[in-house]
Amino acid sequence: MTEVDVVANLESVQKRIRAAELRGGRQPGSVKLVAVTKKVPVEQITKVLEAGISDLGENRVQELMAKQEQLPGANWHLIGHLQTNKVKYVINKTVLIHSLDRWKLAETIHRLAAAKGLTVDVLVQVNISGEETKYGLSPNEVEDFITEASQLSAINIRGLMTMAPYVDNPEEVRPIFKELYTMRQKLAEKWPHIQLTSMGMTNDFEVAVEEGADIVRVGSAIFRA
Ligand SMILES: *Cc1c(COP(=O)(O)O)cnc(C)c1O
Repeated sequence: MTEVDVVANLESVQKRIRAAELRGGRQPGSVKLVAVTKKVPVEQITKVLEAGISDLGENRVQELMAKQEQLPGANWHLIGHLQTNKVKYVINKTVLIHSLDRWKLAETIHRLAAAKGLTVDVLVQVNISGEETKYGLSPNEVEDFITEASQLSAINIRGLMTMAPYVDNPEEVRPIFKELYTMRQKLAEKWPHIQLTSMGMTNDFEVAVEEGADIVRVGSAIFRA
């Protein structure tokens, strides 16, 4: 088996992001690529860091902590479901938690962060597709949730995150990205610090960029292609 050329894959993903920025009328270079490193060995991750990637995403706390010890220079993003008993391990280790999906988690992050004098940047995860297997608030819960969570001084809500269902033709999930972007814009009228949308993965990142993604989370296209 030939080894995956992660640097060539990365360049190809970056080119595709640039092209999608152009098509979407976005500022060139405005989209941040978070390289999703779950199950990827450290040697492969090192190659993308050397190629200029600064932001890495993991969906499991244990794996994030283990890799961070070996790759301390990167900005780590927690992108997966977070159990409240693991919050203590991540609050001072991540630049952004993408998966705030329930009130108990908001309270826990706030309480532990406040005790350490930290403020934690988070995104609220929204389940736009309504798939039962996906975490996240339903769209009609988001505004009330943010109203409440805004009282929690150690949490800084920076934006929204969603995961689209896997489909063969990513055009099918374009409405999901449009909806997240529109929600984000509406919320920013009330809360100006709500500026980010994290949306788009290997299968659909170009459509997400065209629809206004600020952060895309791409794993397979870099590390497994
Ligand atoms: C795994 C994962 C990704 C990346 O998925 P790919 O299809 O491999 O690009 C993005 N976001 C979340 C939340 C993930 O768990």
